[in-house]
Amino acid sequence: MDIPVELRPYVRTAWLPEVADEDGPRTASKLGGTAWIPSGDAWPACPNCGRSLQLLLQLDAEALPEAARAEIGGGLLQLFYCTSQDPLCEVDCQAFSPFSESVVARRVAPEGEGADAVPDLPSAFPPRRITGWRAVDDLPTPQDVPGVDLPDGVWDAVYRHGLVERDKLSGWPLWVQGPERPRCPQCRSTMRVVFQIVSEDTLPIVFGDMGTGHLSVCLKHPDVLAFGWACT
Ligand SMILES: [Zn+2]
Ligand SMILES: [Zn+2]
Repeated sequence: MDIPVELRPYVRTAWLPEVADEDGPRTASKLGGTAWIPSGDAWPACPNCGRSLQLLLQLDAEALPEAARAEIGGGLLQLFYCTSQDPLCEVDCQAFSPFSESVVARRVAPEGEGADAVPDLPSAFPPRRITGWRAVDDLPTPQDVPGVDLPDGVWDAVYRHGLVERDKLSGWPLWVQGPERPRCPQCRSTMRVVFQIVSEDTLPIVFGDMGTGHLSVCLKHPDVLAFGWACT
């Protein structure tokens, strides 16, 4: 697709994960699989149902493309999510909303081997190790560029371009409802979206009715991470 001239100033690089069907080392970047857990800690559990949380994403900042690393900071970014259907923790704990108690989004500094902690999940997602990143030109959705006036047909082409509705690092978020960048509870500043997870792209997860989720970080408080999702 030829990028419409009105959108050219807004082109950003996003990186699409290239994955292999393996878990890899505990500290690897991955979607699903086994995370690095600090020594002495247990695998994160859900306070609502008591079961292990499913690892959705672990990003090893050292192994990210350099431009993305500059935005994201160091260490391992980890996102765990309760996939229990009974009770339905996604609803009980309003997991669509940032800082839900059935979601753990955090940064850890991997020192040493870590704990021998594995999730107790009868139907854990198959691990997908991220082996590389493919840089693409990403485009915003209309909600993020309200001053750009384009015919609907052009926006349809932007969506069909196929880059927005994917799991991706950085770039532009796909907003299903409207921009929902969380605010940091410590400084109230708007957090930066660093990773997008789309229902049934890499992970066999469905957020509500095929929703899209976003992991965000506070640029001033690197240990404040948030995850939320929305669906139509
Ligand atoms: Zn739960
Ligand atoms: Zn902050």
